[in-house]
Amino acid sequence: MSNFQMTAPKPTSGSLGVGSSTLDVERSGAVLRSAGLRKTYPSGDRTLAVLQGVDFAVRAGETVSIRGESGSGKSTLLNILAGLDRPDSGELFWGAEAAHKLSLGELTARRGRFLGMVFQSYYLIPELDAFANVLMGARLVGRVGAGERARATALLKRVGLAERSTHLPAQLSGGERQRVAVARALMNRPQVILADEPTGNLDERTGDEVIGLLLEVCAEEQAALVLVTHNPAHAKKAARQLLLKDGQFA
Ligand code: ADP
Ligand code: MG
Repeated sequence: MSNFQMTAPKPTSGSLGVGSSTLDVERSGAVLRSAGLRKTYPSGDRTLAVLQGVDFAVRAGETVSIRGESGSGKSTLLNILAGLDRPDSGELFWGAEAAHKLSLGELTARRGRFLGMVFQSYYLIPELDAFANVLMGARLVGRVGAGERARATALLKRVGLAERSTHLPAQLSGGERQRVAVARALMNRPQVILADEPTGNLDERTGDEVIGLLLEVCAEEQAALVLVTHNPAHAKKAARQLLLKDGQFA
């Protein structure tokens, strides 16, 4: 069973006279929450039960790290929390919104304003320079005007790349590419950043710098951070540390 203890106690049955799930989220202060997430994959003639009832929540502005062996389902979980993939069953709340009731199309329409993602492989658009990659975060959710351009400029400056704004990804180091990705993730002032092994392709010193930056900018922007990492030192920098094991949080 999950030992997650942040969710407010459920009201006694019927005490509020309405279904309680959404109210629970609001009362617990969770900005992102899942309950009982299950996910299986076909594996030959058997099924692989990757997530076996994952309860998770992160509060507004909180930092949480998730560790677990390779193949333990960390990316599967993050993709489901991000609405990029669907669980077989279970609930997912983005703020008060019951995201598990939305179609993948509806999730896509809402994702860009609610959360930002950072991946191990950066996923920058190779044809666009650093500035345009950051701005792409805004372009995906609506019109780009002077305000968005100013924010992209400010974010690039904040991540230390003011002098690199016209560089293409191929003209940036790994650490610089990940800084661009961090700026892009923050573009729409998301409530949550989900980072999946963001230092996996970086050397140790550069990785330490990127994690330091990620924690700082999330704090400044009051975004919650969910950090999947293999690095114990990085995991310890989060306010709360979780271990995914046998399909659940140990
Ligand atoms: P982690 O990120 O912790 O390394 P993943 O979430 O990527 O783990 O994968 C968990 C398990 O699910 C692995 O055994 C992986 O092979 C399997 N898996 C992931 N995605 C798929 C898929 N699309 N089809 C079948 N199996 C998958
Ligand atoms: Mg993974």
